[in-house]
Amino acid sequence: MMISNCPRCDHKQIVKSGIVNDKQRYRCKKCNYFFTVNKIGKKIDDYYVTKALQLYLEGLSYREIERILGISHVSVSNWVKEFKIKKPVHKDYHPTYKIYNHEEIVEFMKNKQNLSGAGMVITELGDKFMLIKWERFKD
Ligand SMILES: [Zn+2]
Repeated sequence: MMISNCPRCDHKQIVKSGIVNDKQRYRCKKCNYFFTVNKIGKKIDDYYVTKALQLYLEGLSYREIERILGISHVSVSNWVKEFKIKKPVHKDYHPTYKIYNHEEIVEFMKNKQNLSGAGMVITELGDKFMLIKWERFKD
C-alpha cells in the first residue's frame, strides 16, 4: 500500500517479486528494476499518518495526498476524523507542491529568487523530496 512508484523511473506499475532477507522485493514492470523495502510495520504506518495529516493541514486534498503518498484517500479521511484534525481556512494563499530528486532540489535552492517571498517546507518522500510552497493569491 505504501509503495506506489518505482524508485528508479517513477513508474506506477510495480509487482511483488518474492521476499529477500525478510524484506518484500518488488519489480518495476517498465524498467525491470528490482528493489526491496522494509516490511510495513506499525512504525512506518505512524510515519505516514503524520505525513498525510501534515499534507492535509497544508491544504492538499485527500486525492492529492493519495497520489503523493500512495495511501488511499479513505484512510486519510479516517485519520482526519480519528485525530479530530480541523483544517484552518486558507484564504490568502494556496500551497503548490512539486517532487524533486536531490540534484533538482539543490539546483532549485541555488536560485535565491526561489526562496524569496514564499514560505516552504521540504519533506522526504522515498528517495525524492517534496517541496511545498505557499503562494499568495494575487489581489
Ligand atoms: Zn522502473
